[in-house]
Amino acid sequence: MNATQRLARPEIVAIKPYSHAAWLPTLTRLHANEAPWRPAGDDTEAGLNRYPEPQPAALVSRLAAVFGVDRTQLLVTRGSDEAIDLLSRIFLRAGQDAILQHTPTFGMYQVAARIQGAGVIDVALQRSDRWQLDPQRLLAAWTPNAKLVYLCSPNNPTANRFGEEILHAVCDALSGKAVIVIDEAYIEWSGAASFARFLDRYETLAIIRTLSKAHALAGARCGALIARPDLINLAARIIPPYAIAQSTVEAALRALQPGEVEASTRRIRQLLDERDRLARKLAQIRGIETVWPSDTNFLMIDCADPQRILDKAIAGGFIVRDLRGNPALPTSLRVTVSTREHNDRFLSSLEAP
Ligand SMILES: *Cc1c(COP(=O)(O)O)cnc(C)c1O
Repeated sequence: MNATQRLARPEIVAIKPYSHAAWLPTLTRLHANEAPWRPAGDDTEAGLNRYPEPQPAALVSRLAAVFGVDRTQLLVTRGSDEAIDLLSRIFLRAGQDAILQHTPTFGMYQVAARIQGAGVIDVALQRSDRWQLDPQRLLAAWTPNAKLVYLCSPNNPTANRFGEEILHAVCDALSGKAVIVIDEAYIEWSGAASFARFLDRYETLAIIRTLSKAHALAGARCGALIARPDLINLAARIIPPYAIAQSTVEAALRALQPGEVEASTRRIRQLLDERDRLARKLAQIRGIETVWPSDTNFLMIDCADPQRILDKAIAGGFIVRDLRGNPALPTSLRVTVSTREHNDRFLSSLEAP
């Protein structure tokens, strides 16, 4: 048994997966009880009347190339939310196991853990450290039943990324003892290289990536779990049989053509300039006390009177994220950077009397 199997729930290691209809595209399909005609409005190449390919080979290859990993190290998921769900179900025994996370962070890690009946161990990031992760504090909170350790870098909602030496410190201490999950949903905006290049070094490292943010495909629901093949194989056994819709497969392949990836890179650069402009302007608005540095496509701001800012935004036709539900962020809001035109109108609505 390898470390991944030792950490996994024994019933998952033992499970016999659902056997889906064979995928033999050269033969006419009389084996899956599909309709032989296309539904109205179907503009997919393969036809929505047909079940999609279980792990679409072309998309797996393309995602692996874009993310710089081997295709055996990647599972396509319905958004990275599904990757989080799969990890929870593989590793967390109800009533016994837990996740370890820093707070504030993305809410889905703990929701997925709670759905699974597992516990949540929180380690608070400190405002006085500018939300940087202190690996020693995180490691001090780790217990052997904390099977999943989530590091969100860049972090939602604080917008900063963690230094690589910090990620290494956590992996050096916990590799083989827990699965270290690095959520790179915003990495394209940060200029940092993916930690996936250390999959050879750390036995139980997992990376989650998404097409929802920098690749402009939030509506398609497509992400990836990246890990060594032993973990990918376990996840492949429990993902629902036809997880990725055909329209999503085709949309993702179109968006990931080499020319399109280059175009995304250009748009990302432009948006970062726009982000820096928006940050400077927001810092000048009365009632906005801090605009936190950002490695992402959003800005976290602290306000003297957050309700007043929220009301003005809504009056101007804008919705921003209220972060006050988090005890560490009693005056904070999160603003997604948009087009120059939207950002200017947003700024005007905040300046309105
Ligand atoms: C937006 C976001 C995701 C993406 O989730 P999808 O299911 O892929 O849309 C993942 N992690 C973080 C931290 C996010 O903010």
